[in-house]
Amino acid sequence: MSLDKTTFLIVGGAGYIGSHMTLMLHELGHQVIVVDNLSTGFEDAVIGAKFIRADIHDYHNLDQIFMSHSIDVVMHFAAHIDVGESVRDPFKYYRNNVVATQTLLECMVANKVNHFVFSSTAAIFGEPEYVPIDEAHIKQPINPYGHSKLMVEQMLESYDQAYGLKSICLRYFNAAGADPKTRLGERHDPETHLIPLVLQVASGRRDAISIFGDDYDTQDGTCVRDYIHIVDLCKAHLLAAECMLREKASQRFNLGNGNGYSIKQLIDIAMRVTNKEIIIQSSSRREGDPATLVADSTLVKNILNWEPEYPDLEEIILHAWKWELKHFNR
Ligand code: UDP
Repeated sequence: MSLDKTTFLIVGGAGYIGSHMTLMLHELGHQVIVVDNLSTGFEDAVIGAKFIRADIHDYHNLDQIFMSHSIDVVMHFAAHIDVGESVRDPFKYYRNNVVATQTLLECMVANKVNHFVFSSTAAIFGEPEYVPIDEAHIKQPINPYGHSKLMVEQMLESYDQAYGLKSICLRYFNAAGADPKTRLGERHDPETHLIPLVLQVASGRRDAISIFGDDYDTQDGTCVRDYIHIVDLCKAHLLAAECMLREKASQRFNLGNGNGYSIKQLIDIAMRVTNKEIIIQSSSRREGDPATLVADSTLVKNILNWEPEYPDLEEIILHAWKWELKHFNR
């Protein structure tokens, strides 16, 4: 990586993706400051960074942080991410994902910090009209989570034009896996994501995995998703920061492996990797879930030279399994 020593502010750096990002930047010799309110993250997941417990709703606090550090790039991971919850409690999603992000962006502009990497999502596309989904696909979210992320993308377009705030939005498909050296992994509490829940069944912490809907229009009736290794996802952020600092341009990229796996296929792979029986229960559909989400990542490969190092779902699950065994089954 050719990025010179750079100072990064990682907002939400105590969470799943933010903590892996912080570790990667630290290992590359960059200066990292983490801001997190610990609403869902863990302070002991922050490795190699200065940790500041703060809430991005608080402009004054943020302003102090920007004034006392010379920050080059902000990466923003502090968002609520549960699609089902966003349908039940949209206030929470717009307040945190939109209103607090607006505060952060205003503070950045006031402090002349002009480089922003934004965690966006495949949920901005809604029910796909075609797959794999490229950047030109129509954006029509079907849940408040997707709306909240699309709103920020739109705000960022205006802020580039008006204030010269450059941003790269990375629309993640399904982030998964763990640090290959098992120093970090997924630790949501309560856990809602498929792979960690499946592995909790394999390790005996949970009796069964509920499949939310088996009557979708897919090969076996269960939802199809594109799982991307957390390390590959973080590498894309690094390349994004490098490109933005070099070219001073705002861009948007879809980010996945381009391979779709149904829930049932994923569970079969997990049984192979763990060598354990995984009991399945059929459950009703979860509100706000599209049948199939698979990325066309041609643009991010061409423009940022991104290539996944761990495209294989078996390896993604293996790393998550090692983390489950190490962290939760000591
Ligand atoms: N899912 C499921 N059972 C669970 C959790 C998730 O069937 O206990 C399904 C969910 O409906 C979706 C897929 O697994 O189709 C991936 O869900 P996850 O929450 O991991 O990620 P998302 O696709 O919402 O980002």
